[in-house]
Amino acid sequence: MKVIIVGGVAGGASCAARLRRLDEAAEILVVERGPFISYANCGLPYYVGGVIPRESKLVLADAALFRAQLNVEVRTLCEAVSISPEAKTVELRDVTTGQLTVEAYDKLVLSPGASPIRPPLPGIDLPGIFVVRTVPDVHAIREWLEGHAPEPSGLDTYTGYQTVVPARRAVVVGGGFIGLEMAENLAHLGLDVTLVQRGPQLMSPMDPEMAHYVELHMTRNGVRLALGENVTGFRQGAGSALEVLTASGKAIPADIVVMGIGVQPEVGLARTAGLAVGERGGIVVDDQMRTSVPDIFAVGDAVEVRDWVTSAQAHVALAGPANRQGRIAAEVIAGRDSRFRGTQGTAIVGLFGGAAAWTGVSEKTLRRIGDTDYEKVYIFPNSHAGYYPGAQYLAMKILFRRSDGRLLGAQAVGRDGVDKRIDAFAVALQFGATVYDLEEAELTYAPQFGSAKSPVNFAGMVAADVLRGDMPVTHWEDEHPFLLDVRQPAELAVEQVSGVVNIPLPELRARLGELPSDREIHVVCRSGQRAYYATRILLQNGFAARTVSGGMMSRSTFWAG
Ligand code: FAD
Repeated sequence: MKVIIVGGVAGGASCAARLRRLDEAAEILVVERGPFISYANCGLPYYVGGVIPRESKLVLADAALFRAQLNVEVRTLCEAVSISPEAKTVELRDVTTGQLTVEAYDKLVLSPGASPIRPPLPGIDLPGIFVVRTVPDVHAIREWLEGHAPEPSGLDTYTGYQTVVPARRAVVVGGGFIGLEMAENLAHLGLDVTLVQRGPQLMSPMDPEMAHYVELHMTRNGVRLALGENVTGFRQGAGSALEVLTASGKAIPADIVVMGIGVQPEVGLARTAGLAVGERGGIVVDDQMRTSVPDIFAVGDAVEVRDWVTSAQAHVALAGPANRQGRIAAEVIAGRDSRFRGTQGTAIVGLFGGAAAWTGVSEKTLRRIGDTDYEKVYIFPNSHAGYYPGAQYLAMKILFRRSDGRLLGAQAVGRDGVDKRIDAFAVALQFGATVYDLEEAELTYAPQFGSAKSPVNFAGMVAADVLRGDMPVTHWEDEHPFLLDVRQPAELAVEQVSGVVNIPLPELRARLGELPSDREIHVVCRSGQRAYYATRILLQNGFAARTVSGGMMSRSTFWAG
C-alpha cells in the first residue's frame, strides 16, 4: 500500500508516524511545500519575541529523522498541485526547479492546513507587513526588526539611551490568539504595540465580559487597544514608517505590521479532486476523516468537523485536533475502526504571564443558535489555598444545561492555574459530565497547587446549588427589583451600585423587617459567597431572593469601563 501525505506538519507528520507504527510494510511519502516538516507553529510568536532563542528549536524533526527512524520518505520544497481521483495520482511540483512529476497512491491524506487571511486592502504588499504561519515568516519578521533597529550612534553605552531613542511601533491587526501572542512578544522586545481589532472584543470565542478581562490585562501590560476599528488600508508614512488606516479615519503609525485576522482552510488542492467543501469553508470529512472521494482522507486546519456540544459544523484551527485527526486517519488506513469525536474548541492563550482559556460553547453561541435551556455562574476562586503565599484569583464562567445540569462550556482568565482547570472541564465536558459530577470530581490538592475544594468542584457546587433551588441566581444584565448589598460599609466605600440597600451579612437576621416582602430581593456581595449565605437566610425566612452571580467582582471585572 502506498500512502501519500500532503503537508508535513501537525496533522501530516502525526499521520505518517502513526501509520508507520501500525504498518511496517506501507510505503509512505510525505510532501511538504515549505523547507521544514514537523515544525512548531505554536512556538513561532515566541521565536519572534526571543523567548525561543534559536530557529533550530522550532524544528521538531527533519526529513533525515523521518527516514532513519520511521522509514518515511519526505520531500520538502515539494508542492502537490493537483489530484486525479480516477487515476489515483498526485501531481507534484519541485518548488525550487518548477519540475512536475506524478506519483500514484493507494491512499491519500491531505493535511495542508489553513493560510493566514491577507485581505486585498490598499497597501497590503508594502514592505513591513507580515503574517505568521511558517518558520520563514518569523525569520522575515526577525530580520525586519533587526534591520530596522534604531541606530544608537554611539549612545548604546549611555544608560539613558532608552529615553532618547523613541520606541519602535508595532501594529498587530487581529485580536485572536495569534494576534495576542504576537502583541505580547513584540511588547517583550520593547516595541510600542497597538492591537487593532474590528469587532468590539478580543478573543471572539470568549464571551464579551470574559474577554473584557483579557482586554484589561493587555492594557495593563502596555498594549494599546483599538477595538471596533476596521482597517481599510496601509500607506507609507513619514520616513520609513507605515500607517495603518482605519474606517474611523485613524492613521496609526507603525514600524512593523503583523496581520493576524484569522485563517482560511487551504482547499485549493482538494477542489482539483472535486472534494466536497462545507459551509465553514473546510473539506468535508466523516468521523473517520474520509473525504467525499474514496481513498482520500483530510485532517487538521483544512477540514471542518462537528462541534461536540452544538452538533453544528465547525472550523477550529488548533494543533490538538490536527494531531488527533492525523492519528485517526492513519489508524483507519491501517484497518482500525477509530473515530474522531468532534471538537469542543478547547484553547488557551498566554497573557503576559497569565492566561485565558475556554472549552465548549460560549453564551453568545447559545444565544445565536436560540438555545435557552442553559444557566451560567461566575466564580472567583483562588488559584491555590488562600493561606499559602502567592494565591491569585481566577475569573471563571461556567455554562450548563438548566434541564439536566450537563456541562456546556467553561471560560477562565487569571494569572495562575487557568490551564489545569479548563483541562479538567474539557475532559468532563467530553464525557458528558453534569455539574453534579463536577461537585464529586476528585482532584489533586496540596496548598501550593489548589484547594481541598478545587475551583472545578466549587464551580460544580455553585451550579448545582442553582439547579437544586438552594441558590436562585441572577446576573448584572437582568432587572433588579430590589438590590441588597451584604458587604461591610467599608467595602461599599471602595465601590458600590447606586440605589442598593446595605445590610452587612452579620446584621441580616436581626434586620429582616427592613426588607420588602412584595419584591424579589437580589443579593450582592464581593464575589457571591456572602450573598449566597444571605440568600439562604432570606429564602428560609419566606422572602423571594436571588444571588447576583459573581457579585461586585463580576461587575467590576467584566462590566466596568
Ligand atoms: P499545518 O501545521 O499548518 O501544516 C500544513 C502544511 O502543509 C504546511 O507546512 C504547508 O506548507 C503544507 N502544504 C499546504 N499545501 C500544500 C501542498 N499543496 N503541497 C505540499 N504541502 C502543502 N494551535 C494550538 O492548539 N495552540 C497554539 O498555541 C497554537 N499556536 C499557533 C501559533 C501560530 C503562529 C500558528 C500559525 C498556529 C498556531 N496554532 C496553535 C495552530 C496549529 O499550529 C494548527 O492548528 C496546526 O498546525 C494545524 O495542523 P495542520 O497539519 O492542519 O496544518
